[in-house]
Amino acid sequence: MNKIIFECVCKEKYNLISTYKNNIIVNICFKCHSFFTKKKNFLNSSLKIKKFNKKYEFFFSK
Ligand SMILES: [Zn+2]
Repeated sequence: MNKIIFECVCKEKYNLISTYKNNIIVNICFKCHSFFTKKKNFLNSSLKIKKFNKKYEFFFSK
């Protein structure tokens, strides 16, 4: 396991323990993601959250 930094383009940073070896830069994080989803309709946002979780879940596994 490695200590990495999960960094968003909104400048939010998260320290993570991950099997992933390099720091990760994403276009959207949990913080600005929730900000986004509040603006969208519920069905749309829940779908996006699922996609988002799917996309990043391996970073947070274990
Ligand atoms: Zn962000």
